[in-house]
Amino acid sequence: MTAPPTTTPALAPFATLADTPDVAEVRARVRRVLAEHVTPERLAEHDENETYDLELYNELAAAGLIRLETEIDGRKAAHQSQVTVLEELGAGATSVGVSIVVQYMGVELLHSFGNSAQRQEFLAPLLAGDARMSFALSEPDGGTDVARAMKTRATRRADGSYVLNGRKKWIGGASTANFLLVLARTTEIERSSIDGITMFILPRSTPGITTTPIDTMGIRALEQADIVFEDVVIPAEFVLGEVDRGFRQVLATLNGERLNGAAVALGIGRGALEHAVAYAKDREAFGRPVGAFQALQHELVDAAVKIESARLLLHNAARTSDEAEGGANETLSAMAKLAASEAGTTASDIGMRVMGGWGFLRQLPMQRYFRDARLYTFAPLTDEMIRNYIGEKHLGLPRSY
Ligand SMILES: Cc1cc2nc3c(=O)[nH]c(=O)nc-3n(C[C@H](O)[C@H](O)[C@H](O)COP(=O)(O)OP(=O)(O)OC[C@H]3O[C@@H](n4cnc5c(N)ncnc54)[C@H](O)[C@@H]3O)c2cc1C
Repeated sequence: MTAPPTTTPALAPFATLADTPDVAEVRARVRRVLAEHVTPERLAEHDENETYDLELYNELAAAGLIRLETEIDGRKAAHQSQVTVLEELGAGATSVGVSIVVQYMGVELLHSFGNSAQRQEFLAPLLAGDARMSFALSEPDGGTDVARAMKTRATRRADGSYVLNGRKKWIGGASTANFLLVLARTTEIERSSIDGITMFILPRSTPGITTTPIDTMGIRALEQADIVFEDVVIPAEFVLGEVDRGFRQVLATLNGERLNGAAVALGIGRGALEHAVAYAKDREAFGRPVGAFQALQHELVDAAVKIESARLLLHNAARTSDEAEGGANETLSAMAKLAASEAGTTASDIGMRVMGGWGFLRQLPMQRYFRDARLYTFAPLTDEMIRNYIGEKHLGLPRSY
């Protein structure tokens, strides 16, 4: 019996995937940092111990991979660069990739809606890698229909400040973040209305904020937390953008988050496939490598096709979003997210089957890919809602909900 491989050669990229020079430079930069700082053992350790690899995050930031092309004032869109960084991270250091999806979203929101003081206080340290943020939208009563479910309230006082009370659920990195972006209802319109919700940016150390870690099956190297806000006083200058228009502001940047979530999911699929193929070439049964059996080979091929298709969709969406004036291309971003989430789950599923019992071994990464791939079937938006969106906006069918 051959022993299971613990190191995995990367699959050769296909000719159609030739990166533009800019994208190739970004990819090479991420790979340099990963080659220097990441080992399979280190990834397994952080997953096992549920610890965040802050050192890796700092190295990525030092290599300019949070900032990318962004300046405090004025910048060109960076979707292609962002998805490239995130695909590379998704293929191994997945939890760090997930945390960077949130940082990129913060950059986008602060850039689009922050005034100059807010950019100096919050965006500058974020870009430099000196601070990390969390994005607190989801609540215990709902993530998909969050406007209706939202019970968190910010009440305006006579001096213009707000008092925040409520709960948020599943907030990535919230215990150790330097600041939080929080959505809260400020005006009672009707419960389902997306108006009447305001976005605040506030230091995590503000009195009245408590976080409790949640034990999750995947993305274990990035802690998720419940947050309770109890009479948290927020000065008026921490309103980000327009009062009562916060949810609309978030919706305007969600496309970028879809692209970025898709990139991590794609990376997960690629990492899983690379490991599965290496294993299938090495492991023998009936005197042949198990990859010689058509039952497995065809499934590996199907996963490879899904990954390749998702990557082409993703890069097309990122490129057209970079070129468009109004931000990410909504339908293409939605399609890319759906394709990538399926590529991630398909590749990690066949990976588990190719490895038989060895897939269950905690010290090998396949089970981690299998668990982590689930995240982007429902975040930042569930695949069902993505289908609803494409059905309505792209196919022109009646809204299904
Ligand atoms: C690891 C992890 C990290 C996360 N990080 C963050 C974070 O940093 N910040 C944050 O704010 N949130 C975060 N979330 C929350 C995440 O965004 C939500 O879980 C997600 O939006 C889904 O919401 P829900 O879990 O409440 O599911 P629900 O909204 O309760 O949905 C349940 C099911 O109903 C389906 N459904 C609902 N409405 C429809 C419809 N109209 N048509 C078809 N199907 C429908 C959904 O697709 C889903 O299958 C995170 C979650 C996890 C687990």
